[in-house]
Amino acid sequence: MSAVQHCPTIKLLPRQLADQIAAGEVIERPASVVKELLENALDAGATRIDIELGHGGMSAIMVTDNGVGISADELSLAIARHATSKIESVDDLLTLHSLGFRGEALASMCSVSEWTIISRQPASEQAAKLSYQLPEQVLEVNHALGTRVSINNLFHNTPARRKFLRAERTEYRHCDEVIKRMALARFDVGFYLKHNGKQTLRLPAVSDDIGRSRRVAQVCGQNFINQSLTIDYPHNNMRLWGWISQADFSRQTTDLQYFYINGRIIRDRVINHAIRFAYQRVLPPGRHAVYVLQLEIDPVSVDVNVHPTKHEVRFAESRLIHDFISRSLRDALGSGDAVDVNAMNASYLNQVTPAMNELNQVAQMPAHYLVSESRFGNVLSIVHNRFALSQQQDTLYLIDLVKASALLVSSHWIRSYKDQQVKSQPLLIPLRLTLTEPQKINLKQSELLLIDLGIQLTKTESSDYLLRYIPNLCRDYNSDELAINLLSTPLQDDNIKDQILTVLMETALDLSKLNLAELLNTLSANNGFTASHEFADCWRALTESSLHEWFKRLP
Ligand code: ADP
Ligand code: MG
Repeated sequence: MSAVQHCPTIKLLPRQLADQIAAGEVIERPASVVKELLENALDAGATRIDIELGHGGMSAIMVTDNGVGISADELSLAIARHATSKIESVDDLLTLHSLGFRGEALASMCSVSEWTIISRQPASEQAAKLSYQLPEQVLEVNHALGTRVSINNLFHNTPARRKFLRAERTEYRHCDEVIKRMALARFDVGFYLKHNGKQTLRLPAVSDDIGRSRRVAQVCGQNFINQSLTIDYPHNNMRLWGWISQADFSRQTTDLQYFYINGRIIRDRVINHAIRFAYQRVLPPGRHAVYVLQLEIDPVSVDVNVHPTKHEVRFAESRLIHDFISRSLRDALGSGDAVDVNAMNASYLNQVTPAMNELNQVAQMPAHYLVSESRFGNVLSIVHNRFALSQQQDTLYLIDLVKASALLVSSHWIRSYKDQQVKSQPLLIPLRLTLTEPQKINLKQSELLLIDLGIQLTKTESSDYLLRYIPNLCRDYNSDELAINLLSTPLQDDNIKDQILTVLMETALDLSKLNLAELLNTLSANNGFTASHEFADCWRALTESSLHEWFKRLP
């Protein structure tokens, strides 16, 4: 059965539809609109921002700022997709000082709402107005300096999205949270919020320590401020400053944790880990710190263009950032009787053996590798793109991720193959493979077996092959390499388990996609898992003698 019976023709999507599709990425709910409009106001240099919401922002969102404004002739450009005044080349991303840069927020929100923009620049007497009713026609109106954007009836034309909106209170809370988050990044700007006509938040601009603490108290509570520490750590061209809770003030949830990089709120695993690591000695398990922290770093060393919502980042040197943050916080929190894990770790590493020097050249630690709650403790880094170096109290472990993953995948794979249950997924773009003669023979002989294993290849006219399906289980492996490796020896049903294990060990594994926490948990589970004795061979507690043995195995 073919999905498309008639001959399809390719058409360019109408602009409105393309914008609506793009809006799916950035505009999820009223709070996302509020966030984007606040960012625009801040980028425009506003010192006061007024937000008015109707019904949690679902019926109306109006953001008014006193920033530089938009000129009448640029108003329609502002709402065009990929139109921005903030960058001109991709290099500008490296020195980004604005919150926006993608030039799609206004286009996106306007495509799914009834919108109006009014703006006046200092040079003009009159303000310019553009709205959804007459989107081609700029009108002259009276208005104060700055910009007012109204976004009404969000998702009125995309019912599928509208269905995902929650109760008014919930949507309001999300908007309120967005505003508070921004307010903690920009003490020099006043934020005022009205909901259904009632003033619900007043955060006047402040410029001194007392004022800043008052604002933090308004968001995180007076109790927090009363017992928090204020910190300020400069280090080379970085600075970390803000408010952090001490050991006797913690929460069950992570809701009062605010971390900013150059004024942008960030949720980042490297940073979370650094902070948790610092608190680990002073907080009991299950308790969470409260903090408002600002990290100022050279924009060159952080990439914010990772995700459309710009909440995620990529650091040029994540290890450095991680250590700077955790050291600063540990220093602030005071070590007391607690052991300085890092110092202990360092001296331990140094004394053990010269081979340990290799560990000091480990690759930087990418975010997803950081795991702290497992039998193996904290994963400190990845060595030779294969082994996780982990620390649990004063024991270091080296864990062979490639072998452990291969064992895990092969045992699941074989089990589901025996049950005729292998789930496979189509490759979005089929991969073209050129096979050698022996590989072609192997393919011919074991085509059915391969299909049962969840792998499908089809022949092309040019006598190449297209790899179309691979098992879901193998998605972290390099697919074409996997297929080629499988075809390189004749597959035999009676020793397929060993064959598959070998193939997996030989195939490149994308460690960055690996769910390390899950893998470590499986490794720690000693019972209930058939291959546990094999798993035991995947990790070693490091002692001087075992180190030599392990380093012999390093590639
Ligand atoms: P971005 O912020 O990524 O540039 P937007 O779609 O949010 O994209 O905005 C497009 C452009 O409209 C901005 O680059 C800016 O020039 C202008 N603009 C938007 N909002 C404002 C505002 N409140 N004040 C002044 N200019 C604005
Ligand atoms: Mg913007």
